[in-house]
Amino acid sequence: MNTKELWENCLSEIELGISKANFTTWFKNTSIVKEDTGTIYVGVPNEFVKDWLYHKFHKLILKTLISHEDNVRGVEYIIHKSEQNVKPIENKVIEQTPNINKELPLDLNINKDDNLNPKYNFNSFVVGPFNELAYAVAQAIITNPGQNYNPFFIYGGTGLGKTHMIQAIGNTIKVKYPHKKIYYVSLERFAIDYINSIQNKNPNSFKEKYRKYDVIIMDDIQFISGKDKTQEELFHLFNTLYESNKQIIFSSDKHPNFIQGLEDRLQSRFASGMTVQIVEPDYESRVAIIKAKFESTNIIIDPEVTAYLASALEGNIRELEGSLNTVVCQSQLKNKSLSLNEVKTLIKNNIKPKKTVAIKDIVRMIASYYGITEEVIYEKTRRSEIVRARQVAMFILREDFNISYPLIGQKLGGRDHTTVIHSHLKIKEDLKTDPSLLQEIEKIRILFK
Ligand code: ADP
Ligand code: MG
Repeated sequence: MNTKELWENCLSEIELGISKANFTTWFKNTSIVKEDTGTIYVGVPNEFVKDWLYHKFHKLILKTLISHEDNVRGVEYIIHKSEQNVKPIENKVIEQTPNINKELPLDLNINKDDNLNPKYNFNSFVVGPFNELAYAVAQAIITNPGQNYNPFFIYGGTGLGKTHMIQAIGNTIKVKYPHKKIYYVSLERFAIDYINSIQNKNPNSFKEKYRKYDVIIMDDIQFISGKDKTQEELFHLFNTLYESNKQIIFSSDKHPNFIQGLEDRLQSRFASGMTVQIVEPDYESRVAIIKAKFESTNIIIDPEVTAYLASALEGNIRELEGSLNTVVCQSQLKNKSLSLNEVKTLIKNNIKPKKTVAIKDIVRMIASYYGITEEVIYEKTRRSEIVRARQVAMFILREDFNISYPLIGQKLGGRDHTTVIHSHLKIKEDLKTDPSLLQEIEKIRILFK
């Protein structure tokens, strides 16, 4: 077994034993960099992940490695910037409503000089596996703005706490370093500012304004798609600020590599510092969020109700807050805590059917794309065109739908999970050298949109 296969095997096992949020945060972008006389060197993207794997997952990693390879004696973690294995997946499932500061401009608490809203702070902010890496980086930035993690690029689906987090960084820096000039701006606002400066024939005032800040926080940067002039301007602003060690913080609903129409030079700058994803909160984090939200009201909530809400309200925190508000309002109206049944009735309309992927449907679509019958994918046929379609199906189920290797194997005709790992790797490797395969897969992906 080569080290790549060894690691993929281990990951597929580790993934089964820990939460999805933990797995994505700490194990994504790891690899085995080398093996030397029984010591496995695991490459990790940064020192946060290094620390974390060592302190929280070392035993699990070592045990799993040994179970696959007898002669493993130890594990070391080293920082290794590999080509990032980014999956566009998260964004595909989450609806992309442009929600630029919906609540911000109306709020009278916003400070006009820096656009910071004091309601976004870390006191009320719940930290869990889904956002703890971003949180750790945020704290390091607060300790030393502009020094180590520049730019800080935080991405994830809507309603997961990006604006809250980056605003809270601004608010905390503001208290800690009163002399520092901080500015929060949405990309859309920035673009409007820029256009106005051109129309008023005063581009220099724009340049001066943005170059004077010590910390720039730019929200929803994905809206830069297709705004060529704004990109140009942002590029120059970025360079000026970066060269003078000014802290730059971006948020986006997707990784820089997946922002459409983003110039290469900006893409590489965005990703040149610290890029961290926030994912959907796991069950325990949802419990913590629900408790925190109720603590800020006077309403006492039954643990049974908390548990019910946490399991019923999956997905994004904004929607979760919406449902909680409904519960709070009702209890205030009735002037009592609601029973579990009352809560159930109240929020039944807010519960979305759980996102389930019908593996069979995906396989059927892929089969029809290749002009073969669905059955042959499940069967043992080894004809090359069928093997290929089967491998592509496994690849897509894994990459785009995050389905575990064992489950894919089981659903695709009872195959062993190592076969699935092998197929996944094979397609991944082939994609590097075969542009037509990439096109095929992109065409298939359109079928699922
Ligand atoms: P995004 O910018 O990612 O779309 P927001 O930052 O606007 O999401 O967050 C949506 C709502 O959820 C806000 O009201 C925010 O205060 C709340 N929220 C987000 N993350 C957390 C968290 N970790 N703890 C508590 N509340 C949170
Ligand atoms: Mg936001």
